[in-house]
Amino acid sequence: MNRPDHLSRAQDRRDPWDLVVIGGGATGAGVAVDAATRGYDVLLLERGDFGGGTSSRSTKLVHGGVRYLRQGHVGLVLEALRERGRLRRNAPHLVHNLPFVLPCYSRLDKAFYGLGLTAYDLLAGKARFGRSLVISASEVQRRLPTVRAEGLRGGVVYHDGQFDDTRLLIHLLMTAADHGGTVINYAPVTELTRGPGGGVDGVIVRDLDGGMEWRAAAHVVVNAAGPFCDEVRQMADANATPLVAASQGSHVVLDRSFLPTDHALLVPKTPDGRVLFAIPWHGHTLVGTTDVPIPSVPMEPRATAEEIDFILETAGRYLARPPRREDILSTFAGVRPLVKAGGRHTASLARDHTIRVDAPGLLTITGGKWTTYRHMAEECVNRAAALAGLPRWPCRTRDLPLHGYHADASEFGDLAMYGSDAPGVRALIDAEPNLTERLHPELPYVAAEVVWAVRSEMARTVADVLARRTRALLLNAGAAIQMAPRVAMLMARELGIDAAWKTKQVRVFNELATNYRVSWV
Ligand SMILES: Cc1cc2nc3c(=O)[nH]c(=O)nc-3n(C[C@H](O)[C@H](O)[C@H](O)COP(=O)(O)OP(=O)(O)OC[C@H]3O[C@@H](n4cnc5c(N)ncnc54)[C@H](O)[C@@H]3O)c2cc1C
Repeated sequence: MNRPDHLSRAQDRRDPWDLVVIGGGATGAGVAVDAATRGYDVLLLERGDFGGGTSSRSTKLVHGGVRYLRQGHVGLVLEALRERGRLRRNAPHLVHNLPFVLPCYSRLDKAFYGLGLTAYDLLAGKARFGRSLVISASEVQRRLPTVRAEGLRGGVVYHDGQFDDTRLLIHLLMTAADHGGTVINYAPVTELTRGPGGGVDGVIVRDLDGGMEWRAAAHVVVNAAGPFCDEVRQMADANATPLVAASQGSHVVLDRSFLPTDHALLVPKTPDGRVLFAIPWHGHTLVGTTDVPIPSVPMEPRATAEEIDFILETAGRYLARPPRREDILSTFAGVRPLVKAGGRHTASLARDHTIRVDAPGLLTITGGKWTTYRHMAEECVNRAAALAGLPRWPCRTRDLPLHGYHADASEFGDLAMYGSDAPGVRALIDAEPNLTERLHPELPYVAAEVVWAVRSEMARTVADVLARRTRALLLNAGAAIQMAPRVAMLMARELGIDAAWKTKQVRVFNELATNYRVSWV
C-alpha cells in the first residue's frame, strides 16, 4: 500500500469511479473491500489517517453483544454472532477467542446470567466460540485472581472474540488494495459535485501532503464518514436533518497486574445500566467503557474527569486492588455514530446501522458496530450498485481470507498480528540488523515496524505509527512520548524529510499525547 502510487492512480484517472467512498474507518474500509472484490473500481478517501476517527478507539471486541440481548435486540445479536464467526474464519491472525468471567455476588444473579448466557450460546449455534459455564466462587478466583472475593457466590464464564481494531483496519485496506482498490489517507473530501440532472456525480478532494485539489467523478458516492456523516450530508443539502446521535465512550489502560490472566471480567450492570469490561490486551488491562451523549463531535475526543472516575469506581468494586488515577497508563475516548431515534438516551439506542439515499448518487451508511462491518458493507454495495445502475455482481466477502491471513500466526511471536506480513517485517531486520532495536523497554515494538508502517501501510506522521500502526499511545502514553523522537527520526529517513519536520512532528505528537494522560484531568 504505497501512497504515492495510489495518489497518482487517483489523480490520473479520467473515467468515473464506480464508487467513491468517503471515510477510512471500519465502515468505509468494509465497503471498499466489498466493492473491490466484486470487481468494481473503487476509490476510498480519508481526511486524516485511516482509523483516526472511531475505529481505532473501540473496546476491541468482536462480539454479539450480551447487553443487546438483555435489551431484547435478538436480531442484532444473531447477526453480530454470525459475523463474529466469519471474521475469525477470515482473519484468524487477528481475531481470537476470549473467555469472559461474570462474577456474581448473589445466587439469583448467578442463575439469571447463567440462563442468559446459555441463550447467547444457543443463538451462536455452530459459530459459538466456546460453551458458557456456571462456576463456583473458587473457580472464579482461579480464573480471575484479582477479583474481589468478599461475598462472591460464583460466576458465569462465556466466550466472545477479541481483536486489534486498527490492525484489522489496515489489513482491510490492504485487502481492498490487493483487489485493485485505491485508498488514500490525508485526502479530505471538501465538496460534492452535481451532474446536469442535479444528482451527485463526484467529489472534490484535496491531497494534504502535496496540496493539489482535484475532482474524482463517481457513479455513486458512499458517505461512510461515521460520526461526521452529517457534515457530508450537509454538503449535499445544507438543511439535511442530522442522523447521528453522538455518544462518547472512554477507556482507561492499566498495568497487567490488575488482571494477570487470560480471562476478561464483565461487570454486568453499572450504575447507569450498562456493562463494563476489564480485558487483557497487549500485555495490559483495558477497562471501559462509558456512554455519554455529546452535542457535537470533536476531532480528538478526550475522556472527561467524570468518565474516568466512573470507570475507576466501577472497576474498583470488582477488583481486590481498586485502581487509582495514578495507575492509569493511558486513557482514550471515541464517539459512537448512533442512529437517532426520537430523543432516547444513547445507551438505549440499538447499535443497528442505517443505509439511506440522501440525494441521487449519494448513499449514507452509518451506525452499526465494528463486528458487523462486513454485513453492513454487503448491504451497502448492493444498494449502491442498484442506485448507480452498475452491473449486479455478487458479494464475495463471506469467505474471503483477509490480507495477512495466517492459520497460526503465533509462530511470529511479537509480530503475530502482521500475520503473513510478519516475514516481510523480519526481512527488513535481516537487511538492516539495527532495526531490531526495541523502541521502549516497556513495549514490544521494534524499529523495523516503523519502517514497515511507512513503506507498506501509508503511515505519514508519528501519531500514525504510535497510535494506529502500533498501539503504543493507547497502551502507555508516557512511553509513547519517549518513543516519539526516535520514531520521527526513522520516519524522516524513510520519507526523505528534513530536521524541521522531525521537530514539528514530535511537538505535535506530544500535544496530542496529553489527551491520553490523566494528569490534565
Ligand atoms: C468507545 C467505543 C467502543 C466500541 N467498542 C466496540 C467493540 O468492542 N466492538 C464493536 O464491534 N464495535 C465497537 N464500537 C463501535 C465501532 O467502533 C464503530 O461502529 C465503528 O468504528 C464506526 O466506524 P466508522 O467507519 O463508521 O466511523 P469512523 O471510524 O469514525 O470513520 C469515519 C471516517 O470518516 C472520515 N471523514 C469524515 N469526514 C470526511 C471527509 N470530508 N473526507 C474524508 N474523510 C472523512 C473521518 O476522519 C473518519 O476517519 C465501539 C465504539 C466506541 C465509540
